[in-house]
Amino acid sequence: MSVQQKVDADSLWKNLGEICRWERYTGTEGENAAVRYVEAELTALGIDVEVHAFSSLISIPGGTTLEVLGEGGEMIPAITAVFGASTGESGVRGQAVHVGEAGPPDTPFGDPLYTGASGETPVAGRVVVAEGMLSPARFYYFERRGALAQVYVNKGNAHELTVSTIWGAPTPESIARMPETPVVTLSREQGAALLERLERREEVELLIHAKTDTAWRETLMPVATITPGSGSEEYVLVGGHIDSWHIGANDNAAGDATLMELARVAHETRGELTRGLKVAWWNGHSHGRFSGSTWYADHMFQELRRNCVVYLNIDQPGCRGATLYRPFCTAEVRDWVQDAVSRIGGQSTQPDHPRKMADQSMWGVGVPSFSFLPVLPPGHLELRKDHPADGFPEYWHHPADTLDKMDKALLAEHTRVYAGALHELCTLERAPLNPATTAAVVNEEIGRLESLSGGAVDLGDLREAGARFARACAALNAKIESLDAAHANRALLDMSHAVNPVLYTMAGPFDHDPASGAFRLPGLQCIGHFVERGPESDAGRVIYTRVLREKNRIIAGLGAASAIAEGV
Ligand SMILES: [Zn+2]
Repeated sequence: MSVQQKVDADSLWKNLGEICRWERYTGTEGENAAVRYVEAELTALGIDVEVHAFSSLISIPGGTTLEVLGEGGEMIPAITAVFGASTGESGVRGQAVHVGEAGPPDTPFGDPLYTGASGETPVAGRVVVAEGMLSPARFYYFERRGALAQVYVNKGNAHELTVSTIWGAPTPESIARMPETPVVTLSREQGAALLERLERREEVELLIHAKTDTAWRETLMPVATITPGSGSEEYVLVGGHIDSWHIGANDNAAGDATLMELARVAHETRGELTRGLKVAWWNGHSHGRFSGSTWYADHMFQELRRNCVVYLNIDQPGCRGATLYRPFCTAEVRDWVQDAVSRIGGQSTQPDHPRKMADQSMWGVGVPSFSFLPVLPPGHLELRKDHPADGFPEYWHHPADTLDKMDKALLAEHTRVYAGALHELCTLERAPLNPATTAAVVNEEIGRLESLSGGAVDLGDLREAGARFARACAALNAKIESLDAAHANRALLDMSHAVNPVLYTMAGPFDHDPASGAFRLPGLQCIGHFVERGPESDAGRVIYTRVLREKNRIIAGLGAASAIAEGV
């Protein structure tokens, strides 16, 4: 019997139903009950489960209203986003300023020094009323420009969200980015009259009462370990979040039940495995802005680098109509991801660059990571009205994400694909990593930066470092089959650890970037701002120092990875 055939749709469905008994806000009784359920069920099967207990800065949403003051006014019961500020009894009052769908330019550098302020609607001292969903980067952008508060009118439902750009637990440096102003989210229906008045250019005064309960809380996070028959210390890590908004049947009780089934199947087949499997139910994904997976990355950093071959994240599988895989991954594992989705999942896909979602907290560690991400196909009737191209459903982050949205057969199918993929990763002698794909991504991005720079920055040394890296990867690939597998795997992982922190992060290995957009060579995207602000301007000169330091950091990372390949 293949591992796919071992996946039991009834046991998946039963666990999904059980987890949906609780609203799983991190650090609350509901999430703790789900943690204890996972622990008890797997322990009963003989699986080793460790429940990590630690404190995290967690934010839980409370009662929120938006009052439109004056004649024709109304009181709208609303929701806020977690980590937004609480207003207290007196609320926050101000004139509305309509910004439509405006937001920050697509950049990892959101501060006014980088992006400038010309041509924008002034928002200082006013209440921003924006159309479409908030993002932490969008909220940060308006807050740093002096907005008193922000109101987001979604295109359909009001979706629950997190508004902090701080990835995981705050540090003395990152805590300065903690939101200091309140935020309100409305459905289109709730916000329609307000938008009409603003479109008629009426002066509108708003009063906001928002409440969040943001505090350090004790939290629980289960991680199961399947030890392979080979006794090897190497492992594959698979994780998904256990916390939810409301019941969160699709997002992510379905992922939690999938993880339980994957642990069960791997345990049953452990004798065949040549490397182990660790299965993590991350807490604090929404209410701690990835606090659980970040805790794990920080605490297990050395072990992850020593033994973790690849990380798979599972989020929201098995909802009705989610027939399409939309994989994303770090570059070195892309060939295998594309091939696996085709062979095991029967779909031809073009895996995308990694995205800043789904507990991708391992970029600084540098372990290869991927996600298959089942989504609704284009044109599906249940697509979210905000950003429908993402393929997420309209009941995403909403009380309507309940069991009736789930498709038992599709959930089993997705789980079978994950089971097949993980079994392959846990038995392949050679880690399916191709550094030449990374080199191609690096050099494509260097080319893009050169044209962005238009000669304003000398990138010759960076171009040389990229070319050396490509040569070293090609030379390594030419002889890799003749190397013993353990030796080759070690070199490939060491290269990932050296290059991924410069390819995908600004903060490097030992810290976490802001939880906003994902970029390649993000540290050097400030070249665009340098050119825009003007090399001779004060801001341009300040940005230039950042450009130089980032260039040095990236050249060093590429050099270290090249040296590993050349030394094999
Ligand atoms: Zn999710």
